[in-house]
Amino acid sequence: MAQVAIRNAAKAFGTVKVLHDVSVDIADGQFVVLVGPSGCGKSTLLRMVAGLETVSGGTISIGDRVVNHLPPAKRDIAMVFQNYALYPHKTVEQNMAFALKLRNTDPAVVTERVNRAAEILDLAPYLKRYPRQLSGGQRQRVAMGRAIVRNPQVFLFDEPLSNLDAKLRVQMRTEIKELHQRLKTTTIYVTHDQIEAMTMADKIVVMRDGRIEQVGAPLELFDRPANLFVAGFIGSPS
Ligand code: ADP
Ligand code: MG
Repeated sequence: MAQVAIRNAAKAFGTVKVLHDVSVDIADGQFVVLVGPSGCGKSTLLRMVAGLETVSGGTISIGDRVVNHLPPAKRDIAMVFQNYALYPHKTVEQNMAFALKLRNTDPAVVTERVNRAAEILDLAPYLKRYPRQLSGGQRQRVAMGRAIVRNPQVFLFDEPLSNLDAKLRVQMRTEIKELHQRLKTTTIYVTHDQIEAMTMADKIVVMRDGRIEQVGAPLELFDRPANLFVAGFIGSPS
């Protein structure tokens, strides 16, 4: 596991600045949620931590390494997206094993990691099935399984539940929290859903227009919002 430090991060696409001087500290094992309206820069910040976007200013560290110039594969992170495309012609087992095989992992280790992920995610009975034979929730678990088998130092989630129906969303957020309690992997979780943020986070980072409005534990934000924007955002129904 590792702490993540985002220091004075900035991002511009051409001349358009989308992140301004953003600093966030994520402690080892912490579950931090980035929340804010669509377009405020959450995905861009997460993608900078993942190495999928360059950094225009500031530094990003994972553990004790500044990773600004490291490619994604060298960052020891695993990311789960909203549109988690599973490989349709691979079984659940093959979907989870694929990233490890690409990295020439010892087959015995692949089997052990896949079985462990399947056990954690209640997917053991489905290992030989294909994605089309699974429910939406099961598919989402396979997507998480692909991340877990890599034993990353850091999990990054970008609105992983936003394509699921309301009931399944509630169930999956409990499952993701249980997973975190079990693995204690440092996690950055992006959502625009304040209920998700309030129920899942150890610490919430509220963003607006590429800036941080407030950082705090869920109850701190609820009890002492720094401004009307935070109060309106945290207090409004999802
Ligand atoms: P969020 O995830 O909070 O909805 P994003 O990080 O996706 O926000 O986007 C933040 C801003 O950056 C938006 O104004 C978006 O249009 C812009 N943006 C994101 N990616 C690119 C890109 N590749 N090129 C140009 N502008 C982009
Ligand atoms: Mg986004």
